[in-house]
Amino acid sequence: MGNTHVDDPYTTPVKYVKKIGPRRAEQLGRLKIFTVHDLLYHFPREYLDRSKLVSPFDRPGGETVTVAGRVLTGQDTRPRKNLTLTKVAVDSPQGVFYAVWFNQPHVKKLLKPGLRVLLSGKLERGFGAVQVQVQDFEIITGDGAALHAGRIVPVYPATAGVTQRMLRFFVHAALERWGNSYREFLPRRLVEGENLPELPEALWQIHFPENSTEAERARRRFIYEELFLFQLRLAMLRNNYVKMEKPHRYVIGRKLHEQYLAGLPFALTGAQERVVAEIMADMDSPHPMNRLLQGDVGSGKTVVAVLTLLRAVESGLQGAFMAPTEVLAEQHYLSLSRSLAPLGVRVAYLGGGMPGKERRALLEQVAAGEIPVVVGTQALLQEDVEFHKLAVVVIDEQHRFGVRQRGALQQKGACPDVLIMTATPIPRTLSMTVYGDLDISVIDALPPGRQPIRTYFVAPEELPRVYEFVAKQVAAGRQAYVVCPLVEESENLDLQAAKDLYRCLADEELRGCRVGLLHGRMKRNEKEQVMYDFRAGQIDVLVSTTVIEVGVDVPNATVMVIIDADRFGLAQLHQLRGRVGRGGGPSHCILAARLRSREAAERIKAMKASQDGFYLAERDLQIRGPGDMAGVKQSGVPEFRLADLLRDRDLLAAARSRAMAVIRSDPALTAEENLPLKFYLQREERSRRSYYHIS
Ligand code: ADP
Ligand code: MG
Repeated sequence: MGNTHVDDPYTTPVKYVKKIGPRRAEQLGRLKIFTVHDLLYHFPREYLDRSKLVSPFDRPGGETVTVAGRVLTGQDTRPRKNLTLTKVAVDSPQGVFYAVWFNQPHVKKLLKPGLRVLLSGKLERGFGAVQVQVQDFEIITGDGAALHAGRIVPVYPATAGVTQRMLRFFVHAALERWGNSYREFLPRRLVEGENLPELPEALWQIHFPENSTEAERARRRFIYEELFLFQLRLAMLRNNYVKMEKPHRYVIGRKLHEQYLAGLPFALTGAQERVVAEIMADMDSPHPMNRLLQGDVGSGKTVVAVLTLLRAVESGLQGAFMAPTEVLAEQHYLSLSRSLAPLGVRVAYLGGGMPGKERRALLEQVAAGEIPVVVGTQALLQEDVEFHKLAVVVIDEQHRFGVRQRGALQQKGACPDVLIMTATPIPRTLSMTVYGDLDISVIDALPPGRQPIRTYFVAPEELPRVYEFVAKQVAAGRQAYVVCPLVEESENLDLQAAKDLYRCLADEELRGCRVGLLHGRMKRNEKEQVMYDFRAGQIDVLVSTTVIEVGVDVPNATVMVIIDADRFGLAQLHQLRGRVGRGGGPSHCILAARLRSREAAERIKAMKASQDGFYLAERDLQIRGPGDMAGVKQSGVPEFRLADLLRDRDLLAAARSRAMAVIRSDPALTAEENLPLKFYLQREERSRRSYYHIS
C-alpha cells in the first residue's frame, strides 16, 4: 500500500484491476469505463436471486434453481454436428445428478473431480434422472465469497467481449482493493436524515447485496446521490448569477422597440406583453437575466426574441441569436434582416460551412462591434467567434442544446442576459426541478384568429385520396408539407425513402403541383434555396424529412401530411403539426399510419383530441409510462444513470430542497460538514467527466 497514485479509485486507470489487461481495458472503454471509479459506478441493471440453495431432488422440473455439490466425472459428447454436450456428474447429499452445458467444452477442463461447485440453471427431470441445464456456475474455493451463484447475483449492462462473469469478477476485485478508499462525501445530516447507507457499504451492497432489501437501499442511495448533485449544481449556478453584477446597462428610451412594434402587422397578445415586461424587468436589474421562455408552437416567441435583442442594439451593445439547425437559423436570419432593415439595424448570419474568407471578414466586423445582431447555429460557439460587447444571448429551442452549450455562448460576453426559448412543453411537474436554475415565463395563449387544425387519421391505402385533397388545396392557392419519417437504422434508407416519395409525388400523384424536396444532408445553399422557394410560393408541396420539425414558419402552408405517423413521438407530432395553422386559414393535419401497437393508437387519439402542447406532453409520459426515459429525453431533460425522473419524483423533490438548503446556508461549501462535498465537486470538475450527461 501507500502507493498513492494507484490508491485513488477516481484516477486509477481500470487496467490496474486484477485480470484486466490492455485489451479488456479497451473493451471496457466501450462501456465508458476508464477508471476504477467508473467500474465501481457501473451499476447492475438487475439482479438474479440465486441465494436459495435447494436440493434438485425436491423440486419439480422446469424451475430455475441453484444447487450445490461435488464434481465426480465429466464427459463431452457430440450428439450432432455443431453441438458439443458437456455432462458432469455431481454428488449431493440426496444423490447424484447431472449438470449439462451446450457448446462450452472448456468447462470440463475447469471442473476437476473433487471440486465443490454451485450451479444455477433450469432443472429437468425425467425417468428418475435429474439434470440441471447450467446457466451459471461457480467453483467454491474456500477463499472469498461466491460471485455467480449461491447469492443474489448482479447483472450488468455488458458489451461484446465482456461477459457478466468477467464484470462480476472485475467489480469484486476492485471493491476488495479500492472499496475502503471511498469516503462518504454527502453531508452527514442528509445521510442520516434520509436513512441512506454510507459510501463503501452502499457500493458493496449495490453490487453484491446480502438480500434484496439491502440492494434496494443501496440503489436508493445512488439515485439520491445523483439527484442531489444535479440539484446542487443548479442551485450553485443560480446562486452565481444572482450574485453577479453585469457590466452593461441599457438605455432608458426604447425608440427601436417602439418602431419595430409599429411596423408589425399585428398587436402583441396579452401573453406576449406580459413576458416582454418580465424580460425587460430582468434586463433592468443589475444582475444577469437567466430566463426560460416557454410557449407552445406558434405562440409568437420570435417577436419576443427580437424585442430582447433590440434592447441591446438600442444601447450600443450586441446580441446573439442561436438556433439548433441551419434551416431554422436561416429562417430567423431572413425574418430578422427583413424586419430590422427598415430600422437600420444590421444582422449577420454565421453558419457552418461558410467559406473561410467570407467568414473571417464577418468575424472581424462582429469583433469590432460593427454588426449588432448575429444569428447562427452552434457555429456561434466556435472559439474564434468574438464579440465587442455581447449583452444579450437568445437561444431558440433549448431542448436541442445542453447546459454546456448554453454556458459556452454565455462565455462570449461578460455576464450577458440570457433568454432561452422552448416550444417543448416540459410537463409542469418536471420543469421546476429540471430548470431549477432559471426563471420561467410562459406564453400561455396563441395569437387571435387561429383556427383549430383539423386532425385526421388515415390508413396508408387512403393516401391517394389524401393527395387529391392536397392538390385541391394547392389549386386554391395553399401550400402543403409531406413529412416522411426518419429511418433510424440507416440514414441512407431515410434519404432514399424521402427521394422515392418525392419522385412518386412529383411524377405521379401530384403531377400538377410544384413539388420540392428538403432533407438534412443537402448543402446549405441548396436547403436555403428550397426554403426560399417554398416561402416565396414557388414550391407548392414540400416533401421533407424531419428537418422541418422545429420552428419553420410559412403561414400560407395549411396542410401537413405525416407518413408513418406511428413512428413519431407525441412531442414530435405536435411540433410537426404546429407548422400549419399559422396563417389564419383553415388548416389540416393528416396522420397516415398503420397502428401496430397500443401506444401508437393512443398517440394518434391524443393528437386528435387536443392541440395543447402541455396536455400532450403529460399524455405522452402517461402513455409511455415511467421508466421510458426516451419520453423524458424528448422533453429536453438530462439523462441520469440510475434515476428516473418520473418514478423518482419524490426523491427529486427531496433532493432539491436539501440542495437548496445547503447552498442557502453555506454557498461556498466551506462549513466543516460540507467540505467533503466541496472536494468531491472540485475533483469532478477537474476530471470533467461528470457521470450524468447534461449535454
Ligand atoms: P413560435 O413561438 O413557434 O416560434 P413564431 O414566433 O414563429 O412562433 O410565430 C408564429 C406566427 O405567428 C408567425 O407568423 C408570427 O408572425 C405570428 N404572430 C406572432 N405574434 C402574433 C400576434 N400577436 N398576432 C398575430 N400573429 C402573431
Ligand atoms: Mg420559433
